[in-house]
Parts: sequence; structure tokens; C-alpha cells
Amino acid sequence: MQAVALEGVTKRYGAETVVAGVDLAIPAGEFFTLLGPSGSGKTTTLSMLAGFVQPDEGRVMMGGRDMTRVPPRGRGLGMVFQNYAIFPHLNVAENVAFPLSVRGAPKAEIESRVAEALAMVKLTGFEKRYQRQLSGGQQQRVALARAIVGHPAVVLMDEPLGALDKNLRYHMQVEIKDIQQRLGMTVIYVTHDQEEALTMSDRIAIMERGRIAQMGPPREVYEKPESSFVAAFLGEANLLPVTPEGAAARGPGGALIQAGAGSLPGKGGLAFIRPEKLSITAGLADAAPNALPGRVLHASFLGNTMRYEVEVEPGRSVLCDTANAAGAALHAPGADVTVSWNAADSRFLAG
Ligand code: ADP
Ligand code: MG
Repeated sequence: MQAVALEGVTKRYGAETVVAGVDLAIPAGEFFTLLGPSGSGKTTTLSMLAGFVQPDEGRVMMGGRDMTRVPPRGRGLGMVFQNYAIFPHLNVAENVAFPLSVRGAPKAEIESRVAEALAMVKLTGFEKRYQRQLSGGQQQRVALARAIVGHPAVVLMDEPLGALDKNLRYHMQVEIKDIQQRLGMTVIYVTHDQEEALTMSDRIAIMERGRIAQMGPPREVYEKPESSFVAAFLGEANLLPVTPEGAAARGPGGALIQAGAGSLPGKGGLAFIRPEKLSITAGLADAAPNALPGRVLHASFLGNTMRYEVEVEPGRSVLCDTANAAGAALHAPGADVTVSWNAADSRFLAG
């Protein structure tokens, strides 16, 4: 069952097209994320789903019905936004009850629903507190409880964890995901944080200047980006200029570069490899496909990994991440090394 869909949705502000013909179909129960840099049109897209912004073209569909002209409160959505804005003059229980009280739900139902929602976000016992008596993370939980209290089928979240520090963010990510699965909710989530998108989502749409650059499950968009924009946005990416040579290509220093099946080099193209797919060995190995001789420029200890920056031709370097396992060889700056990788771990992309 398709919960939500956008069909050719476009939004312009003056001469600027901020969302350009977006098509999305989100099945019920999916955790779907819009990921992209600031200004790429994520909030505008979500606001059109919510009904706060009217598209200039296209349709917003929910459960097979055209909702384009239906105002926000008629759409039955739960929402959590970045500036969670819990009401300062209401206590926690009253904040969470708000969506139910505005629609005149019976008192007993409100009480049991609020208790259930607060239990779900682990805020039982906080009913009587006010905003000023809550930490940032607790306020965010109140906002989450308020979004789910009416058991909406679809919840929209716009950078809901943006204001939280790293540990709390991680904790809340796990919590949101857990609640989403327990309630079987469809979540449409907006973030500019690629790690957050990768860990939480069933599918990710990467937005670039009002368009969807690529859409797919986390592993697919991470490992098989279709453009250098997507490759670079989803994490560290080595992008080496190559010249085609049949189904393979020549890269830095004339090295032969082969990529995964079905990936063909183009003129002025790039070879893409993630840093963690590169191996680094001491010494300059003999010429072989997907092996580049080089020199260590920097070696950084990142805790769980060592990151090496290796110069593979004058002015060009690659990043290589290795796990910090006991006994792993270390390579000092200045050392001659060879970086190599499996063809299946690289792809050719347009430049
Ligand atoms: P994101 O959430 O990805 O950061 P937004 O959807 O908020 O991006 O904004 C996309 C673009 O639309 C930006 O260039 C922004 O300045 C512009 N924009 C958003 N809302 C308005 C508005 N109400 N009036 C004019 N321009 C807007
Ligand atoms: Mg935004």
C-alpha cells in the first residue's frame, strides 16, 4: 500500500525553482529520508506534503487520494520540526495532549493516549514539568510524543535532532527508529546528516538543487552512487580522473583502472572508490590493475580507523582508511606505499 506520493511536484519562489518536478512514492511503513545540503529543497518538499506550502505544479497523494488542496489539519499527519517549539505555557502532559484536545477527543482517551506516548519516549513521571525544567533531549522527546500521540499513519520530521549533541542524537535515532517499527508508522524524515540518513532509513532520496539526484536503499546509494555529487555527499569519496581505454581506463601515473561489472568509463570521467575499500601496503609494488604507487602525506589516528592521505601523482592524493586492529601495520608520512582495491568496489562516474 502506497502511503504517500508526490507526482511532478514543483515549487517556485519568484524566478527561483526550489523544487523541480519531484516524483516520490512511499509505501506504508517505510522510513524514507530526504537528504541533501542546505537549500536543496528538503523543507519545501516536506512542507508541500504537510500542506503548509502549495505546489505550483503536480499533486500530493495520500492513500491514493489527491490531497493537494487539503489544508494541513485535514491530512492527519504527525509532525516534528527542528525548532521543536513545545508550548512553554503548557506542561509536558498538556503539550502531548494538544493534538487530541484540539480535535475534542474524550478526556479518558486523551489520558490513556498521553500516558502511552510518554511511556514510549521514556518520559513517564515528567507529566507536570514545563519546558524550562527539561533538557534539550527531553524537549525533543516531548515533541516526538506529541507527533505520535494520535497514532498517525504518517509522520513528517524535519531535522528533528539538529539541536542535539552527538551522543544524544545517536540515542534518539535509535529511539525514533524503534517507535517507528513498533507502531508500523510511515516516516518521512529530513536531514542534512548523511550518517543519520544511512543508519535510519529504508530508502534515501538525495536532493540536489530541487531535484532528486538519486534514490535507493542506504547501501545502494552509498556503494553505487550515480554521480560525483552523490558520491561526495554521502561520505568521503576518492574521485580520480581517468581516460577510457575500452571497458577499463587509465588513471594517475597511467595505472590501469577497472571497475565493477556494467560500469563503463566516459570521456573526462572519474573513478570512484571509498577510502575504506582501499588497502595500503608498504613499498612500491609492480604495476597491476587498480594499484597505485604513492607516498604517505599524512597519517591520522581517528580512533577506530587510521586515515592515510597518499599522494599518487604530484598534486593528487587519495584517502585510505584502515581498521585499527591489533598488529595492523602503520605507515609513516614520507613512506613509499601502494594503494590497491578490488574492481568490484569502484565505479566510473561522469566528471
Ligand atoms: P533545505 O530545507 O534543503 O535547506 P529549503 O526547502 O528550506 O531547503 O529551501 C530551498 C530554497 O528555497 C532555498 O534557496 C530557500 O532560500 C528558498 N526558499 C524557501 N522558502 C522560501 C520562501 N518562503 N520564499 C522564498 N524562498 C524560499
Ligand atoms: Mg530545511
